Amino acid sequence: MHIGIDLDNTLLDATSSHLKYYNIASGLMLTSDDVNDFYLYRLYGWNKSEADIVYDKYGYQIHWDSEPFPMAVDIMNELYGQHRVSIITSRPVHFREVTEEWLSRYEIYYHRIVFTDDKFRECLRSNVDVLIDDGPHYVEEFAHDDKPLILFEQPYNSFFSGNSVYRVSNWLEVKSVLISWSIHWGSGF
Ligand SMILES: [Mg+2]
Repeated sequence: MHIGIDLDNTLLDATSSHLKYYNIASGLMLTSDDVNDFYLYRLYGWNKSEADIVYDKYGYQIHWDSEPFPMAVDIMNELYGQHRVSIITSRPVHFREVTEEWLSRYEIYYHRIVFTDDKFRECLRSNVDVLIDDGPHYVEEFAHDDKPLILFEQPYNSFFSGNSVYRVSNWLEVKSVLISWSIHWGSGF
């Protein structure tokens, strides 16, 4: 299989480090209980360009401080041993260096990394069999084309579903879904 894997709030906890630095920038004290929007900056009342200024200032620290979700690293590396693994992130490409350094800090292996907003097109172009992501805006595109999407559960995506969309809440569940497909498709996990 060729597996596409998102970083923020799929492989790692991006919410905590975003809240930490957005709280510093705003003087507010939001917690993860307040998060109900994929676009976290909207909780602070910022528009996109105000958010971009904060993100440019703190983005390096936000990404460097993020921690992997439980079991994510071990299961990622198991996947790397048996499948083709592409990290597909919508982070701006100028955060490539901190992103790659972070991946190497946690000894996470992958075959390639792509920085793009248009993950659906990227998955078609590079023959990705399944994308693992938390973004609610991908659900409709993938479901419409019957393309498999493993949706990592977050408070802002709980109302989204589709035929080819499989919800998971942790990395053991990711592994279970992929094992069941491998059996179905006749290849080893
Ligand atoms: Mg994400």
